[in-house]
Amino acid sequence: MTELYDLHCHSTASDGALSPTELVQRAYQQGVTSLALTDHDTTTGLPEARLCAAATGIKLIAGIELSTNWQNKCFHIIGLGIDPDYEPLAQATHSLQSIRLERAEKIALKLEKKHIPGALEAVKKAAGDGMITRTHFADFLLSQNHVSTQQEAFDRYLAKGKPAYVSTSWAELELAVDWITGSGGIAVLAHPLRYKLTANWMKRLLTVFKDAGGQGIEVITARNNADEIRLVANYAARYELAGSVGSDFHSAVNQWVELGRLAPLPRNIKPVWELLG
Ligand code: AMP
Ligand code: MN
Ligand code: MN
Ligand code: MN
Repeated sequence: MTELYDLHCHSTASDGALSPTELVQRAYQQGVTSLALTDHDTTTGLPEARLCAAATGIKLIAGIELSTNWQNKCFHIIGLGIDPDYEPLAQATHSLQSIRLERAEKIALKLEKKHIPGALEAVKKAAGDGMITRTHFADFLLSQNHVSTQQEAFDRYLAKGKPAYVSTSWAELELAVDWITGSGGIAVLAHPLRYKLTANWMKRLLTVFKDAGGQGIEVITARNNADEIRLVANYAARYELAGSVGSDFHSAVNQWVELGRLAPLPRNIKPVWELLG
């Protein structure tokens, strides 16, 4: 059987549209053999995903996508092969839930000032026990016809510099890497080109990440072209980081992003799964 890895995706435990069970089933149908569930700042989807993975024969890798800060910017760090019961990590996810709820209250107030009431109730209902994210606000704005796409909701209201943006103090990047590695996991820099860093800033980031104990970088994502893959592969080689592959699948709405539909990792890059026990 050909191995097919997808090490980045989201369930209803954060801003994904599918339950952990539905997600694992879809991954199985797409031929994925190893799947990491990496919800934003939470591991609560893992037990259900593990049950379904065992039933289908997929290998489930316990993961998380942590929101972090470095130099006043937000960076996403993926943890792979983590232990969700590791106390510092469990405490961190617990407090991140409150941080996200408080942020949601502030975002809702800002929307109210723009004459858009009812957001808080709607996103709480939609998120249920899961993490409240800006995606939930985007879906609310879409459902109320304030925007016609999710992207427009970010561009007009939710992105940095827009009227409903609330800056948030996430964990420092180095600390988040500690939580991951302390729990026995591998820390991976998610979607490195999404931060729009200059080459110089990218070098500084990778130096800090590597010094903190980071071991991987997402070389293959669903949205990057061949030139972009080459660029990130060069960073991986230069900083001796293992390469990860992840679709960042959230829902079937975006037809360009599918579980397991990913370019192969360049041959000169060490696959991150070789570091997983
Ligand atoms: P949060 O972690 O609550 O700030 O939400 C971040 C999530 O919102 C990301 O993981 C994406 O799923 C989504 N997101 C962020 N920026 C955009 C954007 N410009 N367009 C669509 N989705 C976005
Ligand atoms: Mn997301
Ligand atoms: Mn991300
Ligand atoms: Mn993600």
